[in-house]
Amino acid sequence: MELWPACIDPDYVAGIRDFARREIIPHADDIDRRDVYPREILKAMAKAGYNAVTLPTEQGGAGLSHSHAAAVFEEVSYASGAVGISLITIFQAQTILKTFGNDTLKETYLPQFGQGLLSSYALTEANHGSDIRSLDTKAVRDGQGWLLNGEKSFITSGSAAEFFIILAETPVGVSTFAVPMGLEGLSSYIGTNSATFGLRNGPHVNLVLRDVRLPDHALIGVEGKGVRQAVGTLNYSRTLAGAISIGIARAAFDAALAFVSKRKAFDQRVIEFQGIQWYFADMMAEIEAARLLVYRAARALDDGVDQDRYASAAKLKAAKVATDVAALAVQVCGAYGVMENAPFGRFLRDAKAYEIAGGSAEILKNTLGKYLTRQLAAS
Ligand SMILES: Cc1cc2nc3c(=O)[nH]c(=O)nc-3n(C[C@H](O)[C@H](O)[C@H](O)COP(=O)(O)OP(=O)(O)OC[C@H]3O[C@@H](n4cnc5c(N)ncnc54)[C@H](O)[C@@H]3O)c2cc1C
Repeated sequence: MELWPACIDPDYVAGIRDFARREIIPHADDIDRRDVYPREILKAMAKAGYNAVTLPTEQGGAGLSHSHAAAVFEEVSYASGAVGISLITIFQAQTILKTFGNDTLKETYLPQFGQGLLSSYALTEANHGSDIRSLDTKAVRDGQGWLLNGEKSFITSGSAAEFFIILAETPVGVSTFAVPMGLEGLSSYIGTNSATFGLRNGPHVNLVLRDVRLPDHALIGVEGKGVRQAVGTLNYSRTLAGAISIGIARAAFDAALAFVSKRKAFDQRVIEFQGIQWYFADMMAEIEAARLLVYRAARALDDGVDQDRYASAAKLKAAKVATDVAALAVQVCGAYGVMENAPFGRFLRDAKAYEIAGGSAEILKNTLGKYLTRQLAAS
């Protein structure tokens, strides 16, 4: 389905689409089936200029808008949702450093993202998922630096990450730290919670911190402001998560349309049944509506206005649309839709997992509710 051109340079979209067709689509089913981190693809994407789209050129990025970033996430995820979330953890790390990091951290790490630095964002713990106001991972002052202890769960891209953003609680509240892989006391393991049925880009590992020593400058921004930083960063990644969901929905739509345009029943092609056409009409309208919302949210990120409102609405709507479209795609393809070697199971599993990862539907609605009450109080 060729939807309205993204509100950015069509040549740019064509470039990333071509990259995804050549470099990602041939491997998408294998990545999902074996649950492996697509390392070579992410390194090749960095070389092609797609890993640091919105970082300024002086920091090794492409210096482009968040609409360009949304187009990259959409096209990559049309090919593979797993590659999409591998990219989003890289984007989360560079965004928090760019927004809140001190000069030492920015100078050390930001240029590395454009060169292919692989990273993870470690917030969740066994007892803290949606609620991160307090954490069991603790950071205490240790001479001139910090000492960290605790365990993180569900860490996407953690099986390959070379760099971590880690949230830990200090005596004054949740704080954020930059942690390179390889430090003494930092390790990961695959637990019973690590394999998910969707968004399989390698096991979502548990990250263990045992007396991990960090220099003073590893603290990102102000001590105790970690929750505020996380919420700010999530506005960026939720918008791009919406773009990932749109990519998955479009892939499911196109694959289903291709099938029903050939498959025959009762002496005609399945697409010729009006009941089936209505399904496609609904899917098309829903995808386009959600897509408009995602690009609206991308513009809000560039403008710095109402970011929480648009990011939450975009992810909420796009994730639901992707799940609904993927489920309908299975339905219209009949038995082919549920075959293991057809891609529809992957689309459905990836779409559903993104109704939870990175902010569940309920938490997004809470954010929108808070936005509305804030508006009312101000009026
Ligand atoms: C595929 C995948 C990848 C992930 N990757 C990462 C990662 O890289 N880094 C990371 O830190 N975490 C990651 N996570 C964890 C993810 O962010 C959490 O799963 C998510 O925040 C929800 O937390 P929870 O699973 O503990 O659910 P809970 O917080 O226990 O919530 C359970 C249910 O209650 C609902 N609920 C909770 N609070 C409220 C409320 N106030 N109002 C209404 N309903 C509520 C939730 O929406 C959910 O439906 C990942 C998760 C998945 C599935």
